[in-house]
Amino acid sequence: MSSGLIGVTVLGATGSIGASTLDVLARHADRYRVVALTANADVERLHDQCLAHRPEYAVMADEQAAQRLCERLRITAPDIQVLAGMEGLESVAALPQAGYVMAAIVGAAGLLPTLAAVRAGKRVMLANKEALVMAGRIFMDEVRRNNAELLPVDSEHNAIFQCLPSQSFSLDAAGVRRILLTASGGPFRTVSLSELQYVTPDQACAHPNWVMGRKISVDSATMMNKGLEVIEACWLFNAAPDKIQVILHPQSVIHSMVEYQDGSILAQLGSPDMRTPIAYALAWPERISSGVEPLSLFDVARLDFERPDMKRFPCLRLAYEAMEAGGTATAILNAANEVAVASFLAGRIPFTSIPEVIEAVLSDVTAQDAVTLEIILADDARAREAAARRIQGTA
Ligand code: NAD
Ligand code: MG
Repeated sequence: MSSGLIGVTVLGATGSIGASTLDVLARHADRYRVVALTANADVERLHDQCLAHRPEYAVMADEQAAQRLCERLRITAPDIQVLAGMEGLESVAALPQAGYVMAAIVGAAGLLPTLAAVRAGKRVMLANKEALVMAGRIFMDEVRRNNAELLPVDSEHNAIFQCLPSQSFSLDAAGVRRILLTASGGPFRTVSLSELQYVTPDQACAHPNWVMGRKISVDSATMMNKGLEVIEACWLFNAAPDKIQVILHPQSVIHSMVEYQDGSILAQLGSPDMRTPIAYALAWPERISSGVEPLSLFDVARLDFERPDMKRFPCLRLAYEAMEAGGTATAILNAANEVAVASFLAGRIPFTSIPEVIEAVLSDVTAQDAVTLEIILADDARAREAAARRIQGTA
């Protein structure tokens, strides 16, 4: 089918980023068509999305869920092919008829499908920051080797990308002094350390400015999200960790900034709605409408800035340390975080144990050079086991 439309695959379609992506795509049916949609196990939601967006392929990571989706679609939309498992995810990430891939699976599960899109030389719109945190060097090498186009969707990185010159291979050559990575501070920005012990999963997921999936919401509350974003920025923009300054900015209106040698600071501002960076990544270097309400600066009225507090939010410190340590340390950090966050969400550990578990795992598991994916995935697995042991020990 050569319709002149750009084919798009959405990995993680049923999530928060996936749904926002489909919203933007539906506004531009004259430009894009959906080729494949994927999800983990939410059959109901993927089925609805299939009927609304009519992809050629639907993939469920969970085999039984794929079976159920297949049975539903056989009646409602028999022309849609259903695939399953990691193999299915990787194959739709590399389809020749989809030039663009939205990488919006949450966590380590997104690494291999996102890499498959990179290896197929796609325009990869990256929301799945964990892929870069786990395997930044291999990932960026593969982007160059395969001539893939990597466009950041994370709002901060998308803002930084917008504030950098379009052809900048080195921050020094572009005259950049520092990247100023803004952080809302999450729902507990002003909560004391002694109170943090008692916060619940629902309180942690009630972000003041953004509506997101539960894992990234907890990451925002611990500020591990900002830590993962520091690592993500180091890889995306070829920056040393000390070139990235985190700045608390509770209004989430400035999405990040770039400070230049001449004293200029460029910022990107907008309503906190992920459809802006998604539309930018889709249309770059053009701009298209996104459905986002224009920002009223009169309503915003003021912009505040504060230094982050690494004592109340040790996850940010741990992320900087892991990036400095290098090798598989960031993959170990990420895996320990995923296990600790899942345990917190399940009510098994208190909020303040999340950084404790991660710090313990970083000392239990020795990092090594991250030369192959196998080494990274083996350390990811070792870190998950170590985290589970630590959690059992504290329970
Ligand atoms: P979400 O939990 O809402 O959605 C996650 C998606 O991944 C779902 O479609 C789910 O089915 C799929 N998925 C989960 N586990 C999977 C597995 N094992 N195999 C295959 N698919 C699986 O998450 P989200 O908030 O949309 O975030 C997605 C990614 O984007 C994360 O990496 C997050 O850090 C990043 N991100 C999100 C936001 C945001 O505003 N939500 C902003 C910036 C970056
Ligand atoms: Mg972000």
